[in-house]
Amino acid sequence: MTPVLLKGGVLAERLFASLKTEVMQLRKISGKVPCLANIRIGQNFSVALYEKAQKKRAEDIGISYRGYHLGDNATQEQVERLIHRLNQDKTVSGIILQVPLPKQLDPKRTVYAIHPQKDVEGIHPENLGKAILGKEEYGSCTAIAIMDLLKAYKVSLYGKEAVIVGSSDIVGKPASLMLVDSFATTTICHIATTERGNLERHVRRAEILVVAAGKPHLIKGRWIHKGAVVIDVGINKYHGRLVGDVEFEEAKKRSSYITPVPGGVGPLVPAVLMRKLVASFRRRLENHEL
Ligand code: NAD
Repeated sequence: MTPVLLKGGVLAERLFASLKTEVMQLRKISGKVPCLANIRIGQNFSVALYEKAQKKRAEDIGISYRGYHLGDNATQEQVERLIHRLNQDKTVSGIILQVPLPKQLDPKRTVYAIHPQKDVEGIHPENLGKAILGKEEYGSCTAIAIMDLLKAYKVSLYGKEAVIVGSSDIVGKPASLMLVDSFATTTICHIATTERGNLERHVRRAEILVVAAGKPHLIKGRWIHKGAVVIDVGINKYHGRLVGDVEFEEAKKRSSYITPVPGGVGPLVPAVLMRKLVASFRRRLENHEL
């Protein structure tokens, strides 16, 4: 069986191009453009690289980009003061907070300080709540990217057996609830599923398999249900290269659709983030809040 490769990069390029046109139109109407504020705390080489790429991408679309960098020893109060300032700043449409945060900061408290309207990553509880109540567009960018990929390739979900491996607040949980909203019969597996020796049994019956565990080759290719759709969200450095959580070569022989890693869900995530930013800007413009 030769599966269709679910390539997020192709969709992302299309989305970036349409956002560029939309931002140009919004600028014509209002004289304003969306602005993305990025907060990085401490030194982190890979985060700095990621930011550089994100800045370039934003500016290519016509979005203005502001980077804020606090030192390794930043206190909770300093970070929250900055977030509150950006929350109040009408010119800022969205705020992203680069993780991981240094140890002295409380991750939940820091994320919750971001105003839900400016939480373009979709990680604030208010937005996660909206997303599971049917407003998918408010949810986490990665979960939305998974659903976008399935929709773009017209994968039918209705009544299908979907299995998600990984139950994190930003990927596994929101993606599983979005699958339920698309009428897939959804099972969520996590570390305890593996510890009780039940992971293989669940994976074997998955017609739609979404894996976001962060464990290289956790899912054996021979476990893949014949004809399954496999979405591998995992990104792991393994013997000097990037691999997912699924044994790709073996899984390819049994699946009907599969994401390559890298090149699957990953490239679509920043495009979804920009779409959310532009949507948030448009909403505030239409509500005369700008
Ligand atoms: P996380 O660490 O917050 O959660 C991992 C989840 O996997 C947990 O629910 C845990 O119980 C489960 N898990 C861990 N080991 C397991 C095992 N052996 N068997 C079964 N379940 C197991 O991780 P996360 O933030 O959800 O990220 C997961 C993976 O997805 C990582 O590789 C991360 O890099 C990747 N990711 C990619 C993108 C992207 O843009 N493509 C975005 C977010 C996360």
